[in-house]
Amino acid sequence: MSIKENLNFFNKKLEGKNARLVAVSKTYPADIVKEAYDCGQRLFGENKVQELVEKAKELPGDIEWHLIGHLQSNKVKYIAPFISVIQSVDSLKLLKEIDKEAKKYFRTIPCYLQLHIAKEESKFGLSFEECQALIFSEELKNLKNVIITGFMGMATNTDNEETVRSEFHSLKSFFEKIKSKPGLPVNVLLKEISMGMSGDYKIALEEGSSIIRVGSAIFGQRNYPQL
Ligand SMILES: *Cc1c(COP(=O)(O)O)cnc(C)c1O
Repeated sequence: MSIKENLNFFNKKLEGKNARLVAVSKTYPADIVKEAYDCGQRLFGENKVQELVEKAKELPGDIEWHLIGHLQSNKVKYIAPFISVIQSVDSLKLLKEIDKEAKKYFRTIPCYLQLHIAKEESKFGLSFEECQALIFSEELKNLKNVIITGFMGMATNTDNEETVRSEFHSLKSFFEKIKSKPGLPVNVLLKEISMGMSGDYKIALEEGSSIIRVGSAIFGQRNYPQL
């Protein structure tokens, strides 16, 4: 299957649904990304700052780049001028740094808080309790150059469909619970729930995902493992 056929497949899947596709282009060179761009894809996801910055320089300016990988505070400055969404925010410290850098460019950067929903130890993200505490913290209110517009989560990497489904379900329930709480700060405007990858996007859509992040099912198997 070609990239074009794969994109068509996903766009068909999303037709009539309130959900969008982030094409995860990590490890694929700019000319491959351009091929997807030429098919009309505008939303791309990368997980490493350096790779993202290099690719963004070579590609058209109307691409909306989402950072989906762990972000260190000292690297925020490299993406602050152009990033569309930072999906992988998992601390107040990082939010403060994004706020500080966004201010320099007179921007307000949309951020998703990453929740830890998988059983695996190694994945980044906040617990539901930590996330709620962050959202209602006094410090968040003062950050005028970030806006929290959604949550992101990764399910356990398993063939057990029920495990994956229950993890996505718990994220969606938490999203609805927080959304309905009175007294949310003005810089929390929950719209998006980013869940689902090549292996589990179907379950994610059934459980209410609004953003699926799909790499290998569009671009083919990656040649080297991702950390
Ligand atoms: C790599 C990655 C994806 C896409 O994974 P595929 O299995 O290739 O679809 C989605 N989300 C995150 C956070 C990733 O790092």
